[in-house]
Amino acid sequence: MPELPEVETIRTDLEPLLVGRKVVAAEVCVEEAYRGRYVNLEEAVGRRIHALRRRGKYLLADLDDRELILHLGMTGQVGVKLLEPALRHVRVRFRLDDGAVFFFADQRRFGKIHVVAPGEYAAMPTLAAMGPEPLSSDFVLARFSMALTRVNSLKSVLLGQKLVSGLGNIYVDEALHLARLHPERGHLNRVEAERLYVAIREVLAEAVRNRGTTFKDYRDGMGNYGRNQDFLSVYDREGEPCRTCRTPIVKLRVAQRGTYLCPNCQPLPR
Ligand SMILES: [Zn+2]
Repeated sequence: MPELPEVETIRTDLEPLLVGRKVVAAEVCVEEAYRGRYVNLEEAVGRRIHALRRRGKYLLADLDDRELILHLGMTGQVGVKLLEPALRHVRVRFRLDDGAVFFFADQRRFGKIHVVAPGEYAAMPTLAAMGPEPLSSDFVLARFSMALTRVNSLKSVLLGQKLVSGLGNIYVDEALHLARLHPERGHLNRVEAERLYVAIREVLAEAVRNRGTTFKDYRDGMGNYGRNQDFLSVYDREGEPCRTCRTPIVKLRVAQRGTYLCPNCQPLPR
């Protein structure tokens, strides 16, 4: 699933193509079968896009007195094309006043697009309860550190989006390795919490610079692959040597997710 770096890359790609444009038509394909995923899209029509923002893993567009919320799900891809997108599984097309098409393709259909009143996130509880943006000044070390003295399992709390937004399975594993913390650790002291705080920011900022991680489905706003998969420390590297200590990376199941770590750099204390 796309995480903060992938959604941020898409946002920066699409911003110059979308901001200032007016939506002239909204077309939903196969709407009968997938009702509930694409909600009130006709309310985008006739409205102008004033900003394209990101919150956690959500892409948000300000449309006059409405807000468009887009979540890519597992396999969602978006782009802006002057010609019809040569992609299978295009579910939604917004036609723009310059003749271009803002499209959403989604093979597995976990993605969602809703048009709502600004800030009306009742149908998106994760967005409504979203924690601070890790690359902004809203992400405060003292608050993060205090919360981590009480948690039982780092992996599940970091996936939860409330303590800090935007992390998913890949970047949680990468940040925990950089911070030398086992994913099942909890009750961190201040030094450990600060290491994790710095690691989260570093891992995400590097992945943004590398335009995201592509294993299979993720494409940037121009349809291209990310490059960050070539720089991962642990994720998807089971059996390969740790880049720090050469110990083989192991894969465990933590918080119901496949989880990669170095047993030497990230010991689980008794
Ligand atoms: Zn190691």
